[in-house]
Amino acid sequence: MPFRLANLDGRAVVVDTNDGLHDLESVSSGRLGNDPMAALEQPALLASITSSLDPKAASTTVAAALAAARLGAPVPRPRSVFAVGLNYRTHAAESNMEVPENPLVFTKFPSCITGPTTDVELPTRFGDYEVELVLVIGKDARRVPPERAWDYVFGLTVGQDVSDRQLQFAAKPPHFDLGKSRDTFGPTGPVVVSLDSFANPADLAIRSEVNGEQRQSDRTSNMIFDVPTLIAYLSSILTLRVGDLIFTGTPEGVGASSKTFLRAGDVITSTIEGIGTMTNRCIEG
Ligand code: ZN
Repeated sequence: MPFRLANLDGRAVVVDTNDGLHDLESVSSGRLGNDPMAALEQPALLASITSSLDPKAASTTVAAALAAARLGAPVPRPRSVFAVGLNYRTHAAESNMEVPENPLVFTKFPSCITGPTTDVELPTRFGDYEVELVLVIGKDARRVPPERAWDYVFGLTVGQDVSDRQLQFAAKPPHFDLGKSRDTFGPTGPVVVSLDSFANPADLAIRSEVNGEQRQSDRTSNMIFDVPTLIAYLSSILTLRVGDLIFTGTPEGVGASSKTFLRAGDVITSTIEGIGTMTNRCIEG
């Protein structure tokens, strides 16, 4: 059964078919608490609760909660946040980089993770946007073969891998980790969507806009290393834990290739089909 999970004012909420939000602790009669992290352990219960929600009892809607900036990161305290560089051929080409032989993995430190309307602080003139599909791990994963990899995904959300290009390339070899982990550089949301909500979770339209102008538009099926490959690769090295996030790479159209970096006042919108849209304003950092 499909379900969607979000974080309203720091409390776990489930989403009904009309986009209404319901406090998880109250609709589960206390079987589940209000911690979005704990809810990740109970996908079957979330599905069953979602199937019996009364839309008339919703406290608010996704759209109203976004407008009021009440939605936080749907997975607010991941232990680890992995990200994959150069995972779309078009983006590797615009970056003048070779297509990697193995996934190029770096860390976004979990301290950078924010919500779907959080402001992005820019202490740099080289801020950049990268819309990405983000995997939320739902079961501890160690040495998982590709054919079973999707079983370890709790759901999908939207992420912005905001980058400070000057900081990213300030050292040689480049330190991607720091350049992509400044405070507020990891917007996520607006909801996490279960895999069975999609006709095909491996083929979703993904796009970004800055100030209403389209910058990126592609499909997630164009990844070089697909979701099963990424999970098999990472879990062959370390154990992925429930709540870990994997940013799966961005398609072409980033600001670095057109030399149009982010400025205070810019508004980034990031959308993935079947998940939703994040709207993050840039401010002076
Ligand atoms: Zn990225």
